Amino acid sequence: MTSVPSDTPLMELYAALFSHYGDPHWWPAETPYEVIVGAVLTQNTAWGNVEKAIAGFGDNLTPQVIADMPLTRLRDVIKPAGSFVRKASTLKAVTAWYAGYGWEVAAVQRQPLQALRVELLAIHGIGPETADAMLLYAFDFPTFVVDAYTLRLCGRYPLAEGGYQAVKAYFERNLPRDAALYNALHALIVLNGKAHCRKRPVCEGCPLAEGCKKRMG
Ligand code: SF4
Repeated sequence: MTSVPSDTPLMELYAALFSHYGDPHWWPAETPYEVIVGAVLTQNTAWGNVEKAIAGFGDNLTPQVIADMPLTRLRDVIKPAGSFVRKASTLKAVTAWYAGYGWEVAAVQRQPLQALRVELLAIHGIGPETADAMLLYAFDFPTFVVDAYTLRLCGRYPLAEGGYQAVKAYFERNLPRDAALYNALHALIVLNGKAHCRKRPVCEGCPLAEGCKKRMG
């Protein structure tokens, strides 16, 4: 692992978020497969809608259940998450991809990260954020997840310029290559994005206000 001093701006930002919010314990899922399903369902919708869709499976959210479920029935179950026609097809496709590894986490983890990323990105409906969320939160690969909250924070603080790949590369270049750290920092950025760094920022009480160039008030 490349050693990165603990006083780099990103590690200071992480420390400020962690001391404010504590350990975020992400991803909110019972199993790695539930992470995969949640990563698809959460696209362009609030997490509350994902929870409603996942509840529709009862205690039966397994790859076998989704593989066996007729497509029309799957669309009905996940309807609360929106875009259910496309998301149902994506869930079928990613479950078929996972079947290639025997639906075993360890079998996926034996593969090279970049090769898996290419495979996931080839599935219709899976973009970089969804692929990285699956690889990090379901399979513990050190791949940083960038979302709208991360891009907003990067523009305001500021941290890094550019789109998904440029921002991802910035985080990975400036942090130790550590899945647990990537996991927690992404989750903390989302928590702060919901609580403070919203479209209209609520800078009062924001744990990043001291170092932020865009703080208001
Ligand atoms: S101080 Fe304001 S602009 Fe800066 S990160 Fe916090 S909420 Fe966002």
